[in-house]
Amino acid sequence: MDDFALLELEDQAGGNSRGHQMAGMACPLGAHYLPLPGKDSPEVYQLLEDLGLVRQELGRAVFDERNLCHSPQERLFFEGQWHEGLLPPALRPETRSQYLGFAAAVARAQKELGFAMPTHRAPWTAGHQALDAQTFASWLDGQGLNDAQLRWYLDYCCRDDFGAAASEVSAWAGLHYFASRHGFHPPGDETQEREAVLTWPQGNAFLTQQMAAEIGPQLHCGRSVLKIDGSGSSKQGYEVWAWDEARQVPERWQARQLVLATPLFIAQKLLGRGQSAALDDAARLMSYAPWLVANLQTRGPLMQRVGAPPSWDNVIYGSAALGYVDASHQSLRPDPGATVLTAYWALPQGQRPALLKDSWQQWTQRVLQELASVHPDLSEQLQAVALMRWGHAMSIPRPGTRGAPALRALASSQTGQPGLHFAHADLSAYSVFEEAYTHGVKLAGRLRRG
Ligand SMILES: Cc1cc2nc3c(=O)[nH]c(=O)nc-3n(C[C@H](O)[C@H](O)[C@H](O)COP(=O)(O)OP(=O)(O)OC[C@H]3O[C@@H](n4cnc5c(N)ncnc54)[C@H](O)[C@@H]3O)c2cc1C
Repeated sequence: MDDFALLELEDQAGGNSRGHQMAGMACPLGAHYLPLPGKDSPEVYQLLEDLGLVRQELGRAVFDERNLCHSPQERLFFEGQWHEGLLPPALRPETRSQYLGFAAAVARAQKELGFAMPTHRAPWTAGHQALDAQTFASWLDGQGLNDAQLRWYLDYCCRDDFGAAASEVSAWAGLHYFASRHGFHPPGDETQEREAVLTWPQGNAFLTQQMAAEIGPQLHCGRSVLKIDGSGSSKQGYEVWAWDEARQVPERWQARQLVLATPLFIAQKLLGRGQSAALDDAARLMSYAPWLVANLQTRGPLMQRVGAPPSWDNVIYGSAALGYVDASHQSLRPDPGATVLTAYWALPQGQRPALLKDSWQQWTQRVLQELASVHPDLSEQLQAVALMRWGHAMSIPRPGTRGAPALRALASSQTGQPGLHFAHADLSAYSVFEEAYTHGVKLAGRLRRG
């Protein structure tokens, strides 16, 4: 298909999967990794094959090792030292037994209900609906899974993938995190290797930059769409009013088919209420997590606390933030040196105004404080800081969101308007690359077939 135009308000495509550069070093602004696609994700596998990142050998998928996260992958700062992996060590037998209890619950959910990534490839049954009707925290309480370490870890996973705590996301989301991928493996469980992930210094911008390059001149950056008039049934079709940021003039585009690949709350502002009942219903359900991403450029290597060596992902037990990834981790440099650490922080929704209003100095101080227990010399070693404030970073899969009929309707173009379509991670009620990409590919297929 080449009879299309893609209007993007930023100067580059990629949305939440964009990257940045500091002193010549690439670093992410948002999304930073992609788990290896499983059997339910043939579209993502195909993309990776097209980009030359994976090939078939003797019937097996062989990934290009340069893009697989190098070892050591993850470490957790717990009780004064770094430990390999992110799950807190089970020092007490009660903790270990709760880890085993949760592992068994995940395995049961996988077997009895079925989970998949992307999520629409799994069945949606009364069992899924029941999980979607309650918070993950209340479901865990009901299962007697209340060990402090287990609960901190699960809460961390929810904040990391969904931008909100276990007390806010649905039990469906909390279980989906594990059951759609690698399961849950307590320390000492050798049945599974640690989940392999693909990552790059600039994060998932590595993927979106190449996808944007394919689009070529049909991609129009610096075009903020402000308003959509008309309809697919009228002679002119849809009228899309965009502001050309470079020329500072308005533009009018006309289209018979319109794909809104924006978050749903933006889609609703562009179309106006009352244009699509499904969109109005879906937009009412959505709530978004604000995130701060701080890229911290250092002059040289940081002092290390005892324990596991510097890893790609470095997390502090008990922290309200999410730790940091090291953008130089994938380089083959033999000695540590200057680097960029990308610190992530999913903030409570109530902090969105402060995220916007407080100064960059205040936010930098808060990030440094969060990391001070593991890197007291970070302030001295800091050369430059780049903060990315995401006001509405990702939709939170609160109870009742994933199972909403309105999302299913929008994902299958049952929008109530001819020629009106949606393609965005919001359609899955939570945000990861696999969901966003598969919605786009599926819709493109439908449009091509007419
Ligand atoms: C901090 C952070 C970390 C993340 N980490 C990961 C990760 O490691 N792995 C992962 O898989 N996912 C991660 N995600 C989730 C990420 O959102 C998805 O992977 C994916 O990028 C979502 O893509 P999308 O196209 O659905 O939406 P978006 O990225 O939201 O894209 C929407 C696009 O619409 C454009 N737009 C909006 N309004 C207008 C307008 N009025 N006019 C024109 N254009 C407009 C935006 O500029 C943007 O380019 C992360 C997200 C954030 C915020």
